[in-house]
Amino acid sequence: MEEDSTLQSFQQKVSELLLRHRSFLDIISKFQESNARVNRALIKAVTECGCIQVHGERQNFPSSFSPAWLASQLNTHLHGDLCDHCLDIVRSEMGKNLFYLAALCNLLELRLDQVIDQEMAKLRTFGIFNLR
Ligand SMILES: [Zn+2]
Repeated sequence: MEEDSTLQSFQQKVSELLLRHRSFLDIISKFQESNARVNRALIKAVTECGCIQVHGERQNFPSSFSPAWLASQLNTHLHGDLCDHCLDIVRSEMGKNLFYLAALCNLLELRLDQVIDQEMAKLRTFGIFNLR
């Protein structure tokens, strides 16, 4: 018997609780909307709270480099740390986004843990060559 993981429990709970927006069209639009709300919460942390700042600039990629050197040189463009208030909001919005991802998995009869396991296997196989 397979052990029930946290992700499986979460996915099951989503299935039990999702009464509205059960259609595929509703789920994919709510998934996209919830993703936009994660981005909006992060943008408000910059523009309204100010606990984090974004300093964008061009990334310079040399013609040859080692992965370790590259990781130490690339800039996230992000400065500061989310304050507790913004962190709560971002976590909440990410949770809603995961809710709709789990709902989409349920509709397509996919297991969220298997989606993550498959991605993890790709990361392990391709390592640094899996750059995105
Ligand atoms: Zn903040």
